[in-house]
Amino acid sequence: MTVLDDLGDWQCELRKQFPMIEGNPDVAYLDSAATSQKPQAVLDAVMDYLTTGNANAARGTYPWANRTTARIEQAREQVRRFLGDMTDTSGVHFVSGTTEGLRAVARDWLAPQLEPGDEILVPFADHTANTLPWVEAAALAAAAVRAIPYDVAHDYDHRNLVVGPRTRMIAATHVHHVYGSDMNVHRLRALAGPDVPICLDAAQSAGHVPISLDTLDVDFVVFSGHKMMALPGIGAIWARNRRGPAYAPAGWSGSPNTSGIISLAAAMDWLDDAGLERIARWNQALELRLTSGLAAMPAYEILGCQTSLAADSPVQRRHSIVTFRHRSIGSNDLGFILASEGLLVRADGHCQAEQGEKTSSVRVSPHIYNTPAEIDRLLRVLARLQ
Ligand code: PLP
Repeated sequence: MTVLDDLGDWQCELRKQFPMIEGNPDVAYLDSAATSQKPQAVLDAVMDYLTTGNANAARGTYPWANRTTARIEQAREQVRRFLGDMTDTSGVHFVSGTTEGLRAVARDWLAPQLEPGDEILVPFADHTANTLPWVEAAALAAAAVRAIPYDVAHDYDHRNLVVGPRTRMIAATHVHHVYGSDMNVHRLRALAGPDVPICLDAAQSAGHVPISLDTLDVDFVVFSGHKMMALPGIGAIWARNRRGPAYAPAGWSGSPNTSGIISLAAAMDWLDDAGLERIARWNQALELRLTSGLAAMPAYEILGCQTSLAADSPVQRRHSIVTFRHRSIGSNDLGFILASEGLLVRADGHCQAEQGEKTSSVRVSPHIYNTPAEIDRLLRVLARLQ
């Protein structure tokens, strides 16, 4: 029995919980790396809070306000549990998303500690949200930035990466937003030794694959709620607070994004109930179905490391993100054609930083509400366009 057969009934029940999906049966939403759809439970939690509990947090002495404050503190604890954090030194800070969170770590925590001649290792083939803040932080202190190499032959092969005595931060990405590859952070840690801080951009892994900070030895994890079933405008920085000073956001933050935090808490509950291990297996099986189909069509070029396409790949598996080009139809045109067939994918340069792809491509990123039938439908249209 294949994974898709095995988990089919379970997935069918979960799919029904997404109003945007159920309300549009003719459309296949295949752009979850941009943002995920929201289950009813998340929408209900937000509506319930706004209609029965709405009050500002950390101000006021009346019960509604106190309840909101308590819910936010509970949500912080929930983030720690969701990330498998068993320590008692860590902190969780709510931000608007990964972009703001990475910038906050770079500017508020790292930049004040940097000295001229220090260096930061940065993945310049990754999302600009995980490159520009580190470049800015380095510029503030006349520090240097050096690339974490990515190449299509070897994916993230860290063997040639040198972590030096002046390396003050490794800006890692958990799952690549174009290639779907895993940076294998445990290898970075082995290379760096115990003292160099690692900041993990988990925008494409949180809510997709289980994360266990018990075994993943990083110092910061930053993610966006909207890519993991919660509302837009909420995300979190988790800080281990063991290597170097404890992280604290700079300046005044004002009233929290309370409904966003409520949605994030509900999304983590939903994901925990559904089971991230099964979600990851389902998504990976859809991805394998798509890459196998595409690999049999010579008109298409799948981007990224080809070795990672094999189910028994000796390099890391891809995580449910597949990006490709048609060899003669431009990717933007292909995006429009697919949209006209009800297949919603992303077609552009995907916000990749300076060492990324030079021309646009089409990215397909399924999630738990997608079905093998939708992947087959996409493959049929792509086959016709050969
Ligand atoms: N990092 C990665 C790997 C991403 O894929 C994205 C968004 O696509 C971001 C960071 C930025 O996330 P946000 O726009 O939610 O701040």
